[in-house]
Amino acid sequence: MKNITRSSFFAVFTLTASLVACTHSDSEQADDVQAEEDSGSATQAIVETWTNLGGTTNHSPLAVAFNNKLHVFSVGTDSRIYRKSTSDGESYSTWSELGGFASAGLAAAVHQSKLYVFSVGTDNVLYYRKSTNGVDFDGWVSLGGWTNTAVAAVSFNGTLHVFSKGGDNKIYRRTSTDGVSFTGWTLFGGVTNGAGPAAVVQQGKLYVFATGTNNAVYFQSSSDGVTFSAWQSLGASVTALSATSFAGDLHLFGIGNGDSEIYTHYMHDNYWRGWYDTNPQGVQTTKAVGAASFLNAMWVFARRSDGQIVYHSTPLYRLPFAGNGLWTVVNGNYDDPGDSHPENQYFGFDFAQYDQDAGLGADILAARAGTVVGLREDYNCNPCSPANSGNWIAIEHADGTVATYSHIKLNGVLVNVGDYVVQGQHIAEMGNTGNSGGPHVHFEIHEWWSAENVSGPSVPAYFCDGLHSVWRPRTSQALTPTACSL
Ligand SMILES: [Zn+2]
Repeated sequence: MKNITRSSFFAVFTLTASLVACTHSDSEQADDVQAEEDSGSATQAIVETWTNLGGTTNHSPLAVAFNNKLHVFSVGTDSRIYRKSTSDGESYSTWSELGGFASAGLAAAVHQSKLYVFSVGTDNVLYYRKSTNGVDFDGWVSLGGWTNTAVAAVSFNGTLHVFSKGGDNKIYRRTSTDGVSFTGWTLFGGVTNGAGPAAVVQQGKLYVFATGTNNAVYFQSSSDGVTFSAWQSLGASVTALSATSFAGDLHLFGIGNGDSEIYTHYMHDNYWRGWYDTNPQGVQTTKAVGAASFLNAMWVFARRSDGQIVYHSTPLYRLPFAGNGLWTVVNGNYDDPGDSHPENQYFGFDFAQYDQDAGLGADILAARAGTVVGLREDYNCNPCSPANSGNWIAIEHADGTVATYSHIKLNGVLVNVGDYVVQGQHIAEMGNTGNSGGPHVHFEIHEWWSAENVSGPSVPAYFCDGLHSVWRPRTSQALTPTACSL
């Protein structure tokens, strides 16, 4: 343990920093930020494409939702800590200094209605400060120890857990119930090669992630925060890790060791999806992503290869039909406890009317705005070997993902390739073509799609309707499409 006074952590405080100087980038990117509003009261900001937040950093940006705002913290190239915040996901305050210096990434946790920010000082000692309103912070307090990179913090079961990678590359932990008195550092276990630890609470369990010395990702879980499972491998080779819980699902992010792409490992009910590339716009990143749930979306921040901080949010889909009380999910995602799709269609949905025959010819509406990139409407067969989809439309979104709508009626496509369709637009008539047990629409989001009708991995789609601000529909649930408050 190095015994270094707090003064070295604070050092000199000025406001002439690289993060502040880079705000000119905001105006160049302003057009990419799209706010979608309906005629009602709710406003959902959606940032579909990677957008420049302004500022440069050598480390991982940190995002945390607190006190009705999304707070972003970042370590400038001058090692000072900066922050900005937004209340709508679209308009951010300018960068201001939090105070203090950092030699590595940051961590945050909300515990007992207070926001805690943790930082590894330039003296390699771990510090934290806390706030009751997200604006005014108490002074930095040393947690001691000697850490050479990452730190993670999470509140679970009434206890604040702080994980840190020690100078010996092992993971250590301190805990506190009141956020003031902490236990001493104890060895948590594991030997990490640089990425992690990351920690997140998901479905009543605490998950801790870290990479091993082989760069593969491992995790432990605990139901009480005291007794943990053995390390389990999730494979892959990543250089950075971040985890967040969104709409009841765990999203783990890693930066590919070879290609600097952002990969995601998704989990719900202990169904692990497997790593897939969720970076359709090809942003090259060299440091971990930071992610947080805010305003019915998951916000992902990353350090681009040029040092700029970029971000985007998950889109919110509307149900692709109208008529409350008529519709349900007959086959859900692969992790649906009811009838589910096979693993090559992980996040596919089959939407049908309860009275399935009545669905024939029903309006199919665009679940999200985009450009029609492919279609087929001349099939009049069931099944149509080998065309399991029957007639279909493919619509590409601003972020490069593609929605497919399948089993459409003969000549039931109402749009042309190249058309731009808005959310809610009537695009097709429901049918029963292809491998279909009754009139329904198979809806699925793919990471990418090619003109040869070859599609990339299936990715999760989160919807809103009259009863849910954000969720993944499940089999047998009643759907209320017309009241969706986008
Ligand atoms: Zn299906």
